[in-house]
Order: sequence, then structure tokens, then C-alpha cells
Amino acid sequence: MDDLYPSRYRSEPAIVRRTTPVVHADSVDAAPIGVSMVRQYERDGVIVLENVFDSDEVAVLKRAADQLRVAPGQLSSGTVITEPETSGEDVVRSIFAIHQQSDVFFKLAVDERLAGLARYLLGDQVYMHQSRLNYKPAFQGKQFYWHSDFETWHIEDGMPDMRALSMSVMLTDNHPAAGPTLFLPGSHTSYVECVGETPENHYKDSLKKQEYGIPDGDSLTQLANEGGIISPPPPAGSVVIFDCNTMHGSNSNITPFERTNAFFVFNAWCNRL
Ligand code: FE
Repeated sequence: MDDLYPSRYRSEPAIVRRTTPVVHADSVDAAPIGVSMVRQYERDGVIVLENVFDSDEVAVLKRAADQLRVAPGQLSSGTVITEPETSGEDVVRSIFAIHQQSDVFFKLAVDERLAGLARYLLGDQVYMHQSRLNYKPAFQGKQFYWHSDFETWHIEDGMPDMRALSMSVMLTDNHPAAGPTLFLPGSHTSYVECVGETPENHYKDSLKKQEYGIPDGDSLTQLANEGGIISPPPPAGSVVIFDCNTMHGSNSNITPFERTNAFFVFNAWCNRL
């Protein structure tokens, strides 16, 4: 198979243009969201849909998320990731495979408001590439440095092409200072080749702190100068949707306000690993 998007093999970084479409739907007539939102998603690689889930639904989801966090010993080994460099007690940063470990999150994963929209945008049947709960705990939540998810999934896991997207369901109101996700709009149309080789079993460390597959400063500066930086702080019940190649990251949370979201990555069936 030809590798459309090589990375981590050269000594100099490079930006190459994306060659595959962002929206794969045949027509906008069948769009489950407004046409302007579809166009914005295509242009920016990220959109925010507010009021997708009502307060009763959010309460059920938040309760389920809290229950999983306080009993991590009952979850499959390797699915609980703690914050780096926390002193004393482990602080849970992420729980993976939530659609397999919780009936509540399984139902959320297959909800048409998410899965149906993913099918539409990706123009194919979809399956769950990855799911997780991200907790950004008050005072302790650490940063995620800038990255393209696709670069990692492509190079480390073997995802063939950019035909996947992430949907992040906000289970808490996002305070603008509590380390909300930062996005570089338009960056999904550029692929930043990263420098350096990937060590064995890198994923075990990279989920706490990424050290390989890191885009270089000049490339990030260029993308930020072209499209700016946004950090939407959506209220609970919103869904943030972003393309697998949209550059994003987040700052630490030193505020007293935690931030929790349920995160689902849908991949097109034709793009399965
Ligand atoms: Fe990411």
C-alpha cells in the first residue's frame, strides 16, 4: 500500500497538502445538521453544536462518568490513564474503551445524533476507532501539547487515510480558563510531517505526555498565522466535532473548575486499520 502521509523519517519537518476530502457526503440535502455547519466543518475542520443533549441526559452521563472514575480498579487493565507527575494519589486523566465498559456510554456512542452525523460526514458506515472519558481535573489537569490525531493513528496504528473524526460530548460547562481544547482552524488541510523515530510501545507514555510525533514550531506558527487559534468553551450538552487531522492541544487546568467530556472517534469502515 502506498503511504500517502509519511512522517517521522526525515531530519527536517515538512508540510504537505491534504489530498483527500473532508466531507464525504454525496449531497447536503440529507445533512442532519445545518448546511452552513457542514460548510464550516469542511473549511475549519472543527465545529461546535450546542444543545445537542439536554440537561437530564447530561446528568445521567456525568453520573456515569463520575462512577467510572471512583472505581478504576473495576475497569479493564490498561484503560485507565493517570495524570503525569502527580504527587501521592493517582489522579485519573482518561478512561479508554468506555463504549465497551459502560452501558450508558455504549448508548451514547450509537446515538444517531453522533453516529448518524458521523456516517453522513464520512460518507460510509462507521465504527468506533476509540472512545474515552477525558477528565481535566481542577488544579491538576495537565496540558496536551499540539498534535494531529491522524499523524499518530497513521504512523503508530496504521490508519490508512484521513477519513475519521472525533466527537467530544461536553459533560460539564467548559470555563474558558479551565484548559479547553485549542484548535487551529484550517490546519486539517495540511499534514505536518514530524521529525524523529517512534520508540517501541510509545503509546504507553504518550497518553500521559507526548514526546514523539510533535509538530515543529515553525509549522505550528505558519498554521496559526493562516487560520488563527480558537478555544471554544462550550456549555454542557454541546458536541465539538473535529476532523482527525485538525491540529489541537490544551493548556493545564489550574482553575477550581473541572472539565469532563466523553470522546468518540468514528472511523469510516472503508478506512479501517
Ligand atoms: Fe488529540
